[in-house]
Amino acid sequence: MESSNEISLVIQNIKEAFDNAKNIIVIPHSYPDGDAIGSALGIYLTLKATNKKVSLISPNGFPDFLKCLPHCDEIILANKTKSNIKDLFNKADLIICVDFNMANRMENLEKYVKQSKALKILIDHHPEPENFCDYVYQTTQASSAAELVFDVIEKTGYKKYMNTEIATNIYAGIMTDTGCFSYSSSNPNTFRVASELMKYGVNADIVYDSIYNNFSFDRMRLLGLSLNEKMTYIPEYKTAYITLSAKELKNYSFKAGDTEGFVNYPLSIKGVIFSAIFIEKANNIKISFRSKGSFPVNKFAIDHFNGGGHVNAAGGESYENLNDCVNKFIALLKNYEDDLNT
Ligand code: 5GP
Ligand code: MN
Repeated sequence: MESSNEISLVIQNIKEAFDNAKNIIVIPHSYPDGDAIGSALGIYLTLKATNKKVSLISPNGFPDFLKCLPHCDEIILANKTKSNIKDLFNKADLIICVDFNMANRMENLEKYVKQSKALKILIDHHPEPENFCDYVYQTTQASSAAELVFDVIEKTGYKKYMNTEIATNIYAGIMTDTGCFSYSSSNPNTFRVASELMKYGVNADIVYDSIYNNFSFDRMRLLGLSLNEKMTYIPEYKTAYITLSAKELKNYSFKAGDTEGFVNYPLSIKGVIFSAIFIEKANNIKISFRSKGSFPVNKFAIDHFNGGGHVNAAGGESYENLNDCVNKFIALLKNYEDDLNT
């Protein structure tokens, strides 16, 4: 999105697409986080309020801590539902993708979206979106996809359908993607939108409490293990990282979402500006990267770990074993010595 003329043209196109659509599908990215689910539910509920047929299809499940979000039980999980996904795509005349910039982040849904003749809209805040949608409302200036979903709803005139449940979902998306409004990605519009949403009755303390104070005892102990025994600090590279093996996860009855947020802890060590977590999954190692300041972890993830994301928050994966993957990471740091010490 460039000039204000271009933005208003995109909004005009999106408004017409909303007005004309009868069968809509909303899609978040695979292994959706709070922003993906909050954004998707926000736009889904808004369009559903207009009596259109709307389905929210996620490539796969989302963590338990998001199960407090209003109407999340209506989300269709593509990996769990055999029945009518193909049929829904055949009937769809509008597909709305939220919170991702690469088609392969839809995993099992990518083929349906690519084959579909429906009009496609992307609402996202990741850099350089791939060209897989007709209308793209995107800027990296936004804190979250949820902030942009609000902007789209407002600018297309669909705000008249806003209610407490829609506002709560959008608020939860913004809250989770900004680290409760603590990251540098928050901007004046982020707080404006949060303020607008609260006017619709969002209970900010209850949203926070339901998402962040609802973990299992095992998850808390896994965090303890991660910080006490599984974190390595390399002061010369201002880097700290955590590794968790599949066996350790099993010992602490790991459930999806339990390690969410762990990667942020090393950044609270004075002087650390780069943190990573390596988590051994069944088929690969899932990696999350975080940084403070200008060190671009998305570029690091793209260049070395088949990933992507934002300047200060990115992720990737590796098909090596956990040890080899971590050793590769450590060896790479030397190449970034200057960047990490500026
Ligand atoms: P997280 O570390 O919380 O999983 O993800 C942080 C950010 O990096 C998110 O914005 C997410 O979209 C992006 N990200 C995480 N994993 C991947 C990945 O495997 N590929 C790409 N392209 N982006 C990722
Ligand atoms: Mn996001």
